[in-house]
Amino acid sequence: MIVSTMQEGALTTQLLVDRMTSIHAHKRVFVGVDRDISPRTFAETAARTRRVAGWMLASGLREGDCVATLLWNCHEHLELFLAVPSVGCVLHTINTRLSAETINAMLAETRPRALFVDVGMAQLFEALTLPAETTMVVGVSPSGTRPAMASDSPVLDYTTVMAAATPLTRWPMLKEQQACAICYTSGTSGKSKGVVYSHRSAILHAIAMLGVDAIAMSEKDVCFPIVPMFHALGWGFPYAACMSGAELVFSYRNSDPASIAHLVHTCDVTLATAVPTVWSGVLDAVRRGDVNETDLKSLRRLPIGGAAVSEDLVSGFEAMGISVQHCWGMTEVSPLGLVSSRRAGVSDEEWRALRMTPGMPLPGCELRVISEQGHEVPRDGRSPGELQASGPWVTGAYFDPASSDGHSGAGSFVTDGRGQAWLKTGDVATWDTRGYVRIVDRAKDLIKSGGEWISSIELESALCTHPAVSEAAVVPIPDSHWQERPLAYVSLVRDWPGQEPDLKGFLAARLPKWQVPDRVIVLLELPKGATGKIDKRRLRQLAASAPVA
Ligand code: ADP
Repeated sequence: MIVSTMQEGALTTQLLVDRMTSIHAHKRVFVGVDRDISPRTFAETAARTRRVAGWMLASGLREGDCVATLLWNCHEHLELFLAVPSVGCVLHTINTRLSAETINAMLAETRPRALFVDVGMAQLFEALTLPAETTMVVGVSPSGTRPAMASDSPVLDYTTVMAAATPLTRWPMLKEQQACAICYTSGTSGKSKGVVYSHRSAILHAIAMLGVDAIAMSEKDVCFPIVPMFHALGWGFPYAACMSGAELVFSYRNSDPASIAHLVHTCDVTLATAVPTVWSGVLDAVRRGDVNETDLKSLRRLPIGGAAVSEDLVSGFEAMGISVQHCWGMTEVSPLGLVSSRRAGVSDEEWRALRMTPGMPLPGCELRVISEQGHEVPRDGRSPGELQASGPWVTGAYFDPASSDGHSGAGSFVTDGRGQAWLKTGDVATWDTRGYVRIVDRAKDLIKSGGEWISSIELESALCTHPAVSEAAVVPIPDSHWQERPLAYVSLVRDWPGQEPDLKGFLAARLPKWQVPDRVIVLLELPKGATGKIDKRRLRQLAASAPVA
């Protein structure tokens, strides 16, 4: 038998910090808080990471301890992204937009020993019930101008902690399979569940992102993750940038078009990522003249994911010379599973349709589409089935400290004949022989009307091609005859001059009659969930509380 001669270097976040110093020391991280932009080099960030790492170990934190953050996108959050896992602790990034009640339930599960909290969130912080284990709370003030917590509060101050800390010079030995971070799913369609990433999964996911048929992030990029760092670790972009040497830009808590344009322009951003609702806001602002198109001229690529993108969004940015990289992912998949990329041999005409799909699976992430009968569907681009995922950055269970092995969620996974585990994503998809996957809908959002399925994503995309429509969401409502019918909610672009448009007539000219929603309701704004996606759960509740005649 021949045995491998390769070394066994562990893939850990420590590699990122070391590379930031040895290869990319001069690269910068910019943080914009309101109109102020503060730059720091990668070397400074790595040095500060070692400093906070030194404080953590000196304060008694040990391997396996959880450290939570309640922070926006800022320098300190990046330092903790790197330092917490690199000393063997587990980073729990809490969604700052959740209610105190939801956060309390998560803290009761992860039981962090330390919590780093933005001092601007004092009110939310006061409403939290910290577990007994949380003996250290550190207040972070990214703008430097906010008042610290109340003077009698036992909260430490990040700046003071850093000033007194001794930087860690030697990292502890870690195993790549050990826990690195825990994130909770957005809970768009049910209770939020914890997913625990390993060092290995985080690093492999970052490497996969750099591929030219993936995000293609390189040392030449300036990367602006607008997506909050608490959402699936900022979709992996901070780690990928530290690895590739792409400069990083963060906008603290701001994702409005003016703040985005200001940072893109000032920092020469080439690559920026956020959910579709953020980008449709930017596009509307450009069309209204509120944002100057030339401020966006450095942008080359927009990886957009978390929800389906519309044709209007893709072509709107294409017209400015910016290409949309449509991505599909979920917290359980670290999160990236699919990224759109034009394959060799795809004609212009084919690409016009295929660029609307989230593309092909990343190398290392296996996907398959399974019918209700449990068989793989034909790869004809038409036959729908459940999208299932497997691979080193796909979770095999949910975090559940109440269960005997700390895991739960058996119903969300299947094991195939070879013993390989597959995550049942709950998304309905089709795929073709080249690997292009099209997301038809979430199984829960598909509308079953008179024995036929209607895709809410297709209706939303069609509605968004109307110039008056800013955002659209379609939900099923019960119907005594058809079982379910689609109900559409839209918001109109700001200052739409004309009357309310005839959107049913508009759809009827483009879609089969039976797919056209019985009503299209115009709201001032569509409700958003904690990660900025349109909250269909709330729209369903709205539809149920005000039944449509
Ligand atoms: P939650 O499932 O609670 O919303 P996530 O934030 O992890 O939590 O969201 C993952 C889900 O988002 C996917 O299962 C899918 O339904 C949806 N999604 C992500 N990317 C896309 C996309 N490109 N097109 C359509 N749906 C998407």
